[in-house]
Amino acid sequence: MCKWLLWMAVAAAATGQPLPLGELPRGKVVLIAQPHHDDHTTDYGMGGFIARLIENGYRGVYIRASNDEKDGRNGYAQNDIINLREARAGLRHLGVDEVVSLNWRNDFMNPIPLNELREQLIFLIRKYKPDVVLGHNPWEHYQKNPDHRNVGRALVEAYWMAGDRNVHPEHFALGVTPHAARHFYGKGRLDWGLGQQSNVAIALNETQQRKKELAIAAHRNVYHNPGAKKAYLAALAGEGKALPELAAVDDNTASDLILHWWMNWISRDIGRRAGVKYAEDYYHLDRWDDLPGLRNYLQRNAR
Ligand SMILES: [Zn+2]
Repeated sequence: MCKWLLWMAVAAAATGQPLPLGELPRGKVVLIAQPHHDDHTTDYGMGGFIARLIENGYRGVYIRASNDEKDGRNGYAQNDIINLREARAGLRHLGVDEVVSLNWRNDFMNPIPLNELREQLIFLIRKYKPDVVLGHNPWEHYQKNPDHRNVGRALVEAYWMAGDRNVHPEHFALGVTPHAARHFYGKGRLDWGLGQQSNVAIALNETQQRKKELAIAAHRNVYHNPGAKKAYLAALAGEGKALPELAAVDDNTASDLILHWWMNWISRDIGRRAGVKYAEDYYHLDRWDDLPGLRNYLQRNAR
């Protein structure tokens, strides 16, 4: 079984970089913990990997952390029940028969006590004793869905802690024992971006740049610092340097001048990267970013 190779194409598709093939991990149980009924297969993962694990002797357990009440057209209660039923049907195609629903409120998982969700996942890891844990990559950038972010985070923490007998020792009264799963695989939409990399610059003219500088200087309580001139000149003097244009103005003007340099420099620096005098940089999403294939098609074909 270990000679089988695994192809995880998501990151390669997103970055264009070649990826090494991984071996199929040895084991008997895979625990998939996701927020939603369809996350076994949405966002480009992970149905194929699950199917392959099952074909190679694994037993699978799927944890649906939310109640999926907002996913569908049937009202909250009906959506919950229909989506759970369809999760079971979908997972049967992958060879997974067991679905556990934790029923946290769909899309409202930001304010939940994350330690409670984590404890549930720790308990389930101790109960099912997976060799492989699958879930969302908790460090996925630009993930807008709060359930994806928070379940991913709770899961990787649970994966890390479930083997520690000092963590929730009260579980052991229920007959479970500490268990450290060997493998964690996190999926993420890497085509949304790999980090805080801006993907667009917006050019500014002189007037817009000046307004930006005046706007920050208006926050006198925070940014006006008449003592800055003396401190800056003293620091420079310690290095045997001087700055005559700063020394020539009064303390209040010096404070404004330093703010001007600060705001002007960054706009020029970003502008230089974009081939204009001044610019600001952003990470831009448009409505088609969730569907890059469709976006590319529209760009090529829409008239
Ligand atoms: Zn989801």
